[in-house]
Amino acid sequence: LKNQKTLEFQAETKQLLDIVTNSLYTDKEVFLRELVSNASDALEKLRHLQSAGSKDLVVIDSDRPLQITITLDEVESSLTIADTGVGMTADELVENLGTIARSGSKNFIAQLEAETSANHHDAGLDIARGIIGKFGVGFYSCFMVADKVQVTTRPARGGPITVWTSDGTGTYELAELADDDETRQDRGTTIKLFLKEEYWSLLSEAKIQEILTKYSNFVQFPILLNGNRVNTVQAVWSMDPKEVERDTYVDFYKYVAQAIDDPLEILHFRADAPLEVQALLFIPSFHSEKYGMERMDPGVSLYSRKVLIESKSPDILPDWLRFVKGVVDSEDLPLAISREKPQDSALIAKLKRVLTRRFLSQLEKMAKKESDKYLKEFYPEYNHFLKEGVCQDFEFQPTLAKLLRFETNKNTSRNLVSLDEYISNLRPEQDQIYYLTAPTREAAAMSPYLEAFERANLEVIFVYTAIDDFVMANLSTYEGRPLVSVEKSDIDLSKFDTKEKEDEDKDETDDANDGSSHDGSSKLSATEAIDVCMWFKDTLGENKVGSCRPSSRLVSSPAIVTDNESGLMRRMMRMVDTSDG
Ligand code: ADP
Ligand code: MG
Repeated sequence: LKNQKTLEFQAETKQLLDIVTNSLYTDKEVFLRELVSNASDALEKLRHLQSAGSKDLVVIDSDRPLQITITLDEVESSLTIADTGVGMTADELVENLGTIARSGSKNFIAQLEAETSANHHDAGLDIARGIIGKFGVGFYSCFMVADKVQVTTRPARGGPITVWTSDGTGTYELAELADDDETRQDRGTTIKLFLKEEYWSLLSEAKIQEILTKYSNFVQFPILLNGNRVNTVQAVWSMDPKEVERDTYVDFYKYVAQAIDDPLEILHFRADAPLEVQALLFIPSFHSEKYGMERMDPGVSLYSRKVLIESKSPDILPDWLRFVKGVVDSEDLPLAISREKPQDSALIAKLKRVLTRRFLSQLEKMAKKESDKYLKEFYPEYNHFLKEGVCQDFEFQPTLAKLLRFETNKNTSRNLVSLDEYISNLRPEQDQIYYLTAPTREAAAMSPYLEAFERANLEVIFVYTAIDDFVMANLSTYEGRPLVSVEKSDIDLSKFDTKEKEDEDKDETDDANDGSSHDGSSKLSATEAIDVCMWFKDTLGENKVGSCRPSSRLVSSPAIVTDNESGLMRRMMRMVDTSDG
């Protein structure tokens, strides 16, 4: 070693080191994730430099493959991670590892951005965005498990080899490696951790393999552990959707969802605003909750630049999308994301909104362009989740409502209709959407509540389960039109001109002259009606009968029970009655 000197960490760095070593990560294993991600960034930067192909750029050891090598040494109790990436000069070492809030990646981007804007060279920027670094906490995490760290690095453009050594307290040492030193370093960076005794368990190859598989399985450069390649699965989500074969998707789906089926739907997209995100989401061909199995856990994992942040994250999709499987990657997220940090939670909330919106628009697209698949495969399997969303998720309720499908009294072929279709068939005077709850289609068709609506030639949605009934009550309006149960007492159908209807119900219209009511459905005289009402009240008692009055709504049924304000209550009681049966 020559030109040896001791330098002090920047004051904030000392503080940060303290935090990192003592509390930042509860899961100490993540130091490896941080170092692997740095190595991967360094390789990516080198690849970018090479592909930018400027003529005066000479990369040393250009035949060395771009890879990450991890070795364990039980004798020294050390763990070494080496990459063949860009490496660092002595100045860069001081700047990148001696100070914080000056993330090397951040500077790299600034420089690159200046370069590309000068050269009107757009492609570079895209690639560069892939390596934007965040707040520089990552590297220091190695001091959680090591009491001494040695970084040996040689810039890809050539130049002296620098060695940086520290125990992670106040100072670090910097030296140049002498030309005749036998530990000479090739291009790139080698980081050697001398492990604290309580972490000697990390010297096991199986243990390291397990950590790598968990966090770094999709890193795009080969990771070799004691000479064997660990990461074998491609990060399919980061590929260009145009270039991915269906088989590749299916294999990846089976891998991440631990599934045996073929996915019903694949959604692969990338967005740049309001935040950078790459997502590969799957709808499985079936879900397990319907077999009475327990509630599913979330199925989408969160990555940042191919490195795992959180497996099966509960926060990146709403609860009602728990059947979705896959991977979401956002380079805007720090690896050590924390729910306690408001800016992190804000990012996650933003991400969730982007993903939910995209997912729902994919469903809308399926409903429109592949309606058979939507109605026969997706909807029967997953409609409950959409309905759960309608009841729980105020923000997406209008979008979800568009995705619902119903039988009605008019679609005799049992094709399901959407609320939009229903609205497009409204009668001109109609400003409400009507629905009727009955156990089956047959019961609905025969319901006395339906009579007057049929006569007025109105379409009525049929709902068959207490849950659907509940959904309708929750939704309450669609596109400004109230959803009204036909059981409600104050529905006034008199404005619907029944003559418009084709004249198939002849005897009804004939009856019109037998009373004062214009449509003639009232077959009792006024005094007779009062008698009947009195009889109902006397027989059933005042607390069961709110009011009883003659109605023009009925055609062939003598009487119906209608709802007043306690309607929702009744519906809920019905749900309790039937849901656990
Ligand atoms: P971040 O990766 O978020 O920038 P880190 O603390 O993980 O923060 O790393 C700080 C900086 O140190 C990096 O931005 C990079 O410039 C430099 N660095 C770390 N590891 C390597 C490496 N293996 N090769 C080259 N540079 C590295
Ligand atoms: Mg890092």
